[in-house]
Amino acid sequence: MSEIIRVKNRENKILEQFDMSFFKGGTSTEKNIKLAPLKRDYDAGLITIHCGCLEEEPLLSIAYYQSTGNYFLKKRSLHVHDEDCYFSRNGNTYSNVSSEYESGVKEVEGNFILNIHPLDFLKQETKDNCNASSSSKNGGYIRKSIHYLSIFSLLNTIGSHAWNRYIRYEAGKNYPTKTFVEIYNSIQSLLSKYCIGDLPLKEIFYAGEKEGKVFIIEKSVGFKYGAFTMLVLEDLPTELNGGYYIINAYNPNKGGSELRKLRVRKEILDKEMEARRGLEGPYFVGGFVTKPSSKEIPMFQSFALLPISDYGAPIQSSYERRLYNELGKQKRLVQRPTTSYDVNWNGFIPDGILIDTEPKTILEVFGMSENNIIYHQTKIAKKHHFSSLEKYNYWDWDAYKDDQIPALPLRMNK
Ligand SMILES: [Zn+2]
Repeated sequence: MSEIIRVKNRENKILEQFDMSFFKGGTSTEKNIKLAPLKRDYDAGLITIHCGCLEEEPLLSIAYYQSTGNYFLKKRSLHVHDEDCYFSRNGNTYSNVSSEYESGVKEVEGNFILNIHPLDFLKQETKDNCNASSSSKNGGYIRKSIHYLSIFSLLNTIGSHAWNRYIRYEAGKNYPTKTFVEIYNSIQSLLSKYCIGDLPLKEIFYAGEKEGKVFIIEKSVGFKYGAFTMLVLEDLPTELNGGYYIINAYNPNKGGSELRKLRVRKEILDKEMEARRGLEGPYFVGGFVTKPSSKEIPMFQSFALLPISDYGAPIQSSYERRLYNELGKQKRLVQRPTTSYDVNWNGFIPDGILIDTEPKTILEVFGMSENNIIYHQTKIAKKHHFSSLEKYNYWDWDAYKDDQIPALPLRMNK
């Protein structure tokens, strides 16, 4: 299913495209400013609005709710949508009751309150809870409710935030090295801002100290929670022991000299490997760990692999890895957005943004066969939209057609 919404004129020409996420939840003032003219044109019969879920492109209308002052997309009654489309699953309109945790994270006064599935972090009575709670969708590792933050998204959010902050404030002087030390320290300093309820992750963070530290952390919170950890994966596991893989991971500040053994249930690790297929290391590994007894190796109760570039930037494809390695080699100041925070992006998320060009440059990587229709349509819509923005430069690499990374935009002279 494509998540693209198309606005067309009477000649059937695409005027503007949105990612469906743009319309989710309560709309901001900025969004309303953008949607008000669309509503005017719609009412005047100048435009039609199409859902990209099916080839027939079922029609949508745009509605204004006086009580909230917000604009919403609305399904038109006779138009059938794909069964996976939002409008099939959730009824007529995007909810005007915004979920507090639409993305699983809520920002409150500079802190990030996480909505994590209880089975992912609460210590359970039974040891074998790990495989009971997850469902796999789209090759990912996603909880059944979209409002829970998956452990992968948690690692990606923290890892990207840490990367972006380091790039913005430090990288001009000291670019991240291939030891991951700088990004790891940036991650650790952010953990006081990420909270479950009012508990900052920093207070339950296991940074690869001696194994007994996991138990000490669990004890400090009355054995209510597992300890949260994020470490660099040393090697992929081969050793299988009673349904568990044993992995080796380390804190980069120890230079890889102090490897820690951790256990992961076979099913969980196999699913994670499948979800990140084709992506060889390096990786951060992380999740919530528990140490059932003094003799046992600490065990992940929830777990994810976060692929990173050689310089520590989270990446999601082998082409992105090549691009981010090249950007790193050239010491470029590139940010890795995880949300569509600029209203002008229409809900799309760029693969990267160079902040050392004037104006900033949106980076896109096309890395898959055009046979994957959804991926292709989304990429075309992103290209169409991002290349039309005057506030940004636009650069892309069609890795499917050209194996060489094109010349990067020149950095501005400081
Ligand atoms: Zn649809």
